[in-house]
Amino acid sequence: MRFYHSPQQDQPYTEGKCTVELGRILETSPKVARLLQAIFALNKDSLRRGITCRPCAGTQQASRMGYYDGQYKRIVICCDNIHSEKQLESTLVHELVHAFDRIRTGTFSTMCHLIACGEIRASALGQCHDIKSPQRKRECIWEDAIRSTAVHCGGRTTAEMYIRQVFDKCVQDRAPFNIAHGS
Ligand SMILES: [Zn+2]
Repeated sequence: MRFYHSPQQDQPYTEGKCTVELGRILETSPKVARLLQAIFALNKDSLRRGITCRPCAGTQQASRMGYYDGQYKRIVICCDNIHSEKQLESTLVHELVHAFDRIRTGTFSTMCHLIACGEIRASALGQCHDIKSPQRKRECIWEDAIRSTAVHCGGRTTAEMYIRQVFDKCVQDRAPFNIAHGS
């Protein structure tokens, strides 16, 4: 899941605007296309209910920009926390990485190591990807991954421990962008 960072200058998206731009991104983004292809190659069922825009205010997801719902096999984009097409695309990439990781096999000593790794990868390939400075990029991934991992794994201090243990390994894992058919 990707947390919302306030404040934002632009107006939040309506559900309609989000849906239109989502449709365009699904047709034109090479990154999104590569992730979808990789996900469907592994398990066609894992996004059975698709990708939808909806407001999240007043729900448990109110602080999120988006999330992958593994139980209902769908990605939800929280349109009321999205303020630009760039945010929409990077949130979608972030959640697609989660959907991909959910069906990929991996070996981790605990569930929290698995979650930490997924958040590192989703942030590295999603919203932090285009940051030029290596130092700032690392901070972006580190901070966002701690925030998201903390929700499931006992708070910030514990989450930071998990992040530290898997960071170097997971930040270098660029699947599905490093395997067959280019990026
Ligand atoms: Zn996440």
